[in-house]
Amino acid sequence: MKMKVINTIEAMSAWSREQKLKGIRIGLVPTMGYLHEGHLSLIKTAKAQSDKVVVSIYINPTQFAPGEDFDQYPRDFEQDEKLCVKEGVDLIFYPGDEIMYPKGFKTYVEVNELSRIMCGLSRPTHFKGVTTVCCKLFNIIQPDISVFGQKDAQQTIILRQMVNDLNIPTELIIAPIVREKDGLALSSRNKYLSESERKVAPILFKSLQFAEEQIQSGNLDIGKIKSEMIKMILGNSSGKIDYIEFRNAHSLEDPNPETNDTLIALAVYFNKSRLIDNIIVPAINNEA
Ligand code: AMP
Repeated sequence: MKMKVINTIEAMSAWSREQKLKGIRIGLVPTMGYLHEGHLSLIKTAKAQSDKVVVSIYINPTQFAPGEDFDQYPRDFEQDEKLCVKEGVDLIFYPGDEIMYPKGFKTYVEVNELSRIMCGLSRPTHFKGVTTVCCKLFNIIQPDISVFGQKDAQQTIILRQMVNDLNIPTELIIAPIVREKDGLALSSRNKYLSESERKVAPILFKSLQFAEEQIQSGNLDIGKIKSEMIKMILGNSSGKIDYIEFRNAHSLEDPNPETNDTLIALAVYFNKSRLIDNIIVPAINNEA
């Protein structure tokens, strides 16, 4: 079957309706394009758990603040199309801004509190854009499952909250982080790194692994672990730390001795590129 590319909401919804009538389960992988192995792993997960896979490619302007990298964000639709064909994707939904945000657009979806911490502190309007566009994609495409990456840990928790709160009938599936051999999490934004920044960027994952080891070996002094991580990152790179946070991996609340999974997440600027990464460590408990 030839892969379809659809640009309009009417055609997209009609395709989904047709599949549903036939009892076909739709899997959605929302992306901003410039696809890499991380995206492809999401597509593989979607293929394994649904009958037909839709990849949306849309650089959503509302999740970028003025002065962020919306204009520079890398784009290569032809290459994305080839990769999707190779992965056996059934359809690419590739709408334009005039389709997603027509003149007179006024409605936004915002998940309170969770959108204002961590990445939300330096990007206060970011998650409102993400939840709004995902809500629209869920309504247009009506996916049975929707696959997101653990790379954007806070995003997954915010989307889960939105899907639960608004009773959106899609099952969220979170796929693990895909990394380069040296540990750097794949990201379309890695393209912005200079050669020397690229060389030192794996220190982010190394610092997360260090924190994981500390916790697993019973060191529960988060303050101390954090200051060691800061030393590692600042001592080995030109990175500027936006945040390093230890949170409950499910609720994003502060971890406590009963917390089963602890999310350790960080955001670091290399010049203008802001890289994020995270790791989940099971059970911080005082008996460890
Ligand atoms: P983006 O195109 O950057 O908006 O990402 C689209 C989806 O791919 C999101 O759900 C991301 O979390 C996911 N993703 C991005 N990078 C990775 C990665 N290295 N490993 C796994 N998933 C990823």
